[in-house]
Parts: sequence; C-alpha cells; structure tokens
Amino acid sequence: MRAPGWYYRLSSFFREKFGVRVTKIPLNAGLTCPNRDGALSEKGCIFCYNPAFSPAAAKRERGDENRSHGIRQQIRRFQWQMEGRGQPAHGDKEPPPSFTPRNSYLAYFQAYSNTYGPHYLLDRLYNEALQAPGVIGLSVATRPDCLSADVLDLLTSLAGRHHIWLELGLQSAHDRTLKLINRGHNFACFQEAVQACQGRNLYLCVHLINGLPGEDPPAMLETVKRVSALPVHGVKFHQLQILAGTSLEPLYRQGAVSPLSLEEYLRITCDQLELLRDTIVVHRLLAETPQRDLLLAPDWHVPRARFAGMVEVELRRRGTHQGKGGFD
Ligand code: SF4
Repeated sequence: MRAPGWYYRLSSFFREKFGVRVTKIPLNAGLTCPNRDGALSEKGCIFCYNPAFSPAAAKRERGDENRSHGIRQQIRRFQWQMEGRGQPAHGDKEPPPSFTPRNSYLAYFQAYSNTYGPHYLLDRLYNEALQAPGVIGLSVATRPDCLSADVLDLLTSLAGRHHIWLELGLQSAHDRTLKLINRGHNFACFQEAVQACQGRNLYLCVHLINGLPGEDPPAMLETVKRVSALPVHGVKFHQLQILAGTSLEPLYRQGAVSPLSLEEYLRITCDQLELLRDTIVVHRLLAETPQRDLLLAPDWHVPRARFAGMVEVELRRRGTHQGKGGFD
C-alpha cells in the first residue's frame, strides 16, 4: 500500500508507530572504523573526513574503556536545548539536575562504525543511551561488514523492548564504484548483512550517495532498484560532497570528479523516489555539512526542509509519487 503523501517521511512513520514526534539525538561514542584504523585500510572511504584521524589515535580508542563517558551527557544536553529550556553557553555547562525531557527521542549513534568494538563496550554504550529519560530506542550507524553474530544478538535482545534502527552504509550497489571509493566491501556483503538481520525485529536503513565518480543517472537508479528489492525499511539519500582534506579533494582539483548541480540532483532524487518501494521510509533527502568552510563542492546549499518542498513540487508536477515507477 502506498504511504500517504508524495513520499514516505520519517516523521510520518514515527507518528503512525508511536503517535508522537520522535527526534534523533546525534551521538559520538568515540568508536572508530575498520576502514580507518588499519584493519581494512587506513585511508577510509574517499569522501570521508576526519581531522582527528590517525592510526595511533584509532588504536588508542579501540582499547579505551572510558570513551563511553559522555553519552548520557550528550543526550541530556541535546534534549535540554531541543526543548528550548536552556542553551549551554559553554561546553562544560550542564542542564540542571531537575531537567526531565518531555518529548520522545532516538539515540543516534552516528559517528564512524557503531557496531565495531568489543561486545561489553557496545552493550554498555547502547544501554546507557536506552536508560536515558525520554529515549525510546536507538539508531545505530555502521558498515555492512561490521555485523558479527554477537552484535546482532545484542541488538536483537534490545529490539525486544526498544525500537531499533540499524543504518547501513552502502552508497552504491555497483562493485566497481565501491572499489573506486575504497569502501572495503562489495554489494554481496551488503546483501548478506541484510539477510543476517532478518527475523530480528530490527529496522534497516540504507545510506546512498548520488554523484559518485564514474556513475551516471542510470547507475544511480539501478542502485535504488536493487535496494528496493531487498527487505529494508528505510533509505537516506545524499549528494556527493567534496570536503577539504579527503581523498576526493585531489581528484576534484584534477577535474576527475564533478559534483551534481542542484537541478541534476533534484531530478535524480525524484526519479529514484519513483522507483523506491512505497513502504520504504525516507529518512533524508540530502546531506548538510555543519562545517561549511570545508565544503569545496558543490557550490549550492539548500536547507533540508526547502529541498523537501522542491521534491514535492517536482513530484506534483510529474503527477507521480514514491513507488509510482516500479513497485505499485
Ligand atoms: S565506513 Fe564510514 S567512517 Fe569508515 S571510512 Fe567509510 S565513511 Fe568513514
């Protein structure tokens, strides 16, 4: 059945499921990534930026039991600011002990690969977040090759009592592209990860990037077709952004990579929405960069809400909607 509206928004999904607005709290648990710490590579994906990254730092982080310090603090600060009840003027200023959130939240383990760590540490981090007042579940971002049976069992046990999203970075369904961008895994690895998550009460969200080097619009549409055919529940679309200090920067400066224009990105995203199964929740339509001074390209910037409006206008103009082109 087609979701209401032009496309299936995450806010609609939360309202249907919980009857209230749910806000995601971005967290940095201090974890790392096998594509950065040397386990797979020390270079990372070619679009990935981490100014603090070094192999030594990554190794130190892997053995540091104290890095969970701050999860509860990050949650409380975010909730306090979100609910308009205070604006910490300095990093060390805390919400008052009496503060209790009124709204519902998902703790979003966003930075790096958040299933990549020892079981006891992940257990502690996830539970610390889930025990925070107002937190009804987790969203855990990771790589498809970082899902051991142990970590899946841990997430499955949490999913019995909480709402759990697993966000899997894929970016493209084409192995040639995955190799070019140094992902360190192929599409088959992603398919196996999706399969391993079945029957565990986990919600799967897939991260995709449009405009990757070597990909034309038909390749980007093919990625969405392949993802739609799998038992996943959500997708995040992003435009390729070139950040200073990444491996993409020299390619961009040599003219080997040219980011999509706003018009191209809008057209491709709408084409993809038409192909996207209508029960898949759209978590995000485009990327925003908090550190705009690092953004070399593209030269356009549109706030997410405005881009969502542009997508709706375009789908209305076409007389179409999510799933119209392939999964009705
Ligand atoms: S998997 Fe994620 S954290 Fe690791 S290098 Fe790629 S983008 Fe960066």
